[in-house]
Amino acid sequence: MKNLSDLKLFSDSLPATSRMPVLFLGHGSPMNALEENEFVKGFREMAKKIERPKTILCISAHWYTRGIKVTAMPNPQVIYDFYGFPKELYQVQYPAPGNPVLAKQTADLLSTFQVEMNQDWGLDHGSWTVIKHMYPDADIPVIQLSIDYTRSSTFHFELAGLLSELRNKGVLIIGSGNIVHNLRLVDFKNFHVDNYGYEWAREARSIISESLLTGDFKSIIDYQKLGKSVELAVPTPEHFLPLLYILGLKHKADQTVLFNDKLLAGSLSMTSVYLG
Ligand code: ZN
Repeated sequence: MKNLSDLKLFSDSLPATSRMPVLFLGHGSPMNALEENEFVKGFREMAKKIERPKTILCISAHWYTRGIKVTAMPNPQVIYDFYGFPKELYQVQYPAPGNPVLAKQTADLLSTFQVEMNQDWGLDHGSWTVIKHMYPDADIPVIQLSIDYTRSSTFHFELAGLLSELRNKGVLIIGSGNIVHNLRLVDFKNFHVDNYGYEWAREARSIISESLLTGDFKSIIDYQKLGKSVELAVPTPEHFLPLLYILGLKHKADQTVLFNDKLLAGSLSMTSVYLG
């Protein structure tokens, strides 16, 4: 039974559901952890629109490993996996608990593969810099699942499907990466110009967005065949692959909604995806 204040959370376009949505979040610069900008506002607003999760499972671009690992410690550390940023960024804390029970369930669902119950990692910036805006009280347990770099994009898409029942158990599954992500070509001078993208970045964003919105996931899985602009947008797979996990979790009744859909600094996009 929903009371009035619950109903208010399900504003405008997002339908209420007992199945948790899945999210792909464009995380961008680690400085988003500290900055107040339209993107972090987008993360916060999304958290208000969806049902409050019992727990979170995050697939971050920044945990790219040989083999599949899941964080299984009760209290994950915050990992400052970046260099050369202001010292305040290294002081941000996000003391969300882990969830060893969910880690075990996740490993069981993926038991066809050897999944390492990991005690060493924690929360890298792909997860804590965005989740902290959604759930600032750090009172929702978070675990991470690594991306096995020895596997194909089809594998990642299909692996995600094995986790779909978690959506019915109050687990919010978040993929954190960036669809357009070419760090070598970032135009730092124009970092604060609104929606600023190179021609190829605009083209890559349209190609991927159109496939997302028409449900043509096959071409997203085969992104390496999408031509020169997508090749420039995805020079390495790790920031793109979290998107495939989210797509692999799509239920046939889910709607696809894009948010934070802007280009940044020429060669990045913050485009984020809600499926629910
Ligand atoms: Zn990143």
